[in-house]
Amino acid sequence: MLSYKNIFKILLSFFIVFNTSNLLSTELSEISKLRIINISEGVRVIFESDKPVKYEVFSLKNPSRLVVDLANINFSDDFSLPPNKGVVKNVRFGTFSSDISRIVFDLNKPLKRIKTKLLKPSSGKKRMLHIELETIKDNLYIKKEIQKKSFKKSKSSKKRKTIVIDPGHGGKDPGTSFQGRLNEKDVVLNFSKTLRKKLINEGYRVFLTRENDKFIELKERVEFAKKKGTDLFISIHADASKRETVRGFSVYTLSEKKWIERLKKSQI
Ligand SMILES: [Zn+2]
Repeated sequence: MLSYKNIFKILLSFFIVFNTSNLLSTELSEISKLRIINISEGVRVIFESDKPVKYEVFSLKNPSRLVVDLANINFSDDFSLPPNKGVVKNVRFGTFSSDISRIVFDLNKPLKRIKTKLLKPSSGKKRMLHIELETIKDNLYIKKEIQKKSFKKSKSSKKRKTIVIDPGHGGKDPGTSFQGRLNEKDVVLNFSKTLRKKLINEGYRVFLTRENDKFIELKERVEFAKKKGTDLFISIHADASKRETVRGFSVYTLSEKKWIERLKKSQI
């Protein structure tokens, strides 16, 4: 979710808005494919759907992004996000309301112009939404970047990535416990402090959700991370097993597949 500060930033960095049609329609269109192809001016993003799609396209600056809002759509079962191509360095789902799905394209160059067109099917049933992104020419862009750099040298520290480390449990919640003598909450706190030192040495900004043996609600941990403008959130736990031979670790990350499933069910 966005903090007020972030929303403000985004509003400030608004660049162009194309409002091609209103987003009020209740009939669901199914998006079966999303492709990115290189064209001489930049890239073309192509959505394939079975019915006309109500959409809104706009771009954001700093960093450069293209945002596509699609109203009342479903993703087909085999839908997947396309690999990065050309100026598109990442494709992801952004924020959603109950009937609007948002897809964000992170770009490695500023945009000069966006052209959109919805093509009627010539053969077959598929409709195509074409979005052409024209980016600023390389030499022009490099010149601008150099100017910017000499302007804002002192601001380079702003680019440091922020990591929030979350030592699990704490206070009344010991986590896993070994005969009441060794508790998970203490192990993970020690580990987190060591990890902080290492990451600070690597040049990151690092914060811990707790510095001592304190109980913190899950919600508060998330709020803390949001407030810090976190790029990466790492929650540290130390699991135990009754079997002595068990070794290794488990890593939980966001599942893109599950995310799409939840999206289809409009849970997000
Ligand atoms: Zn735990």
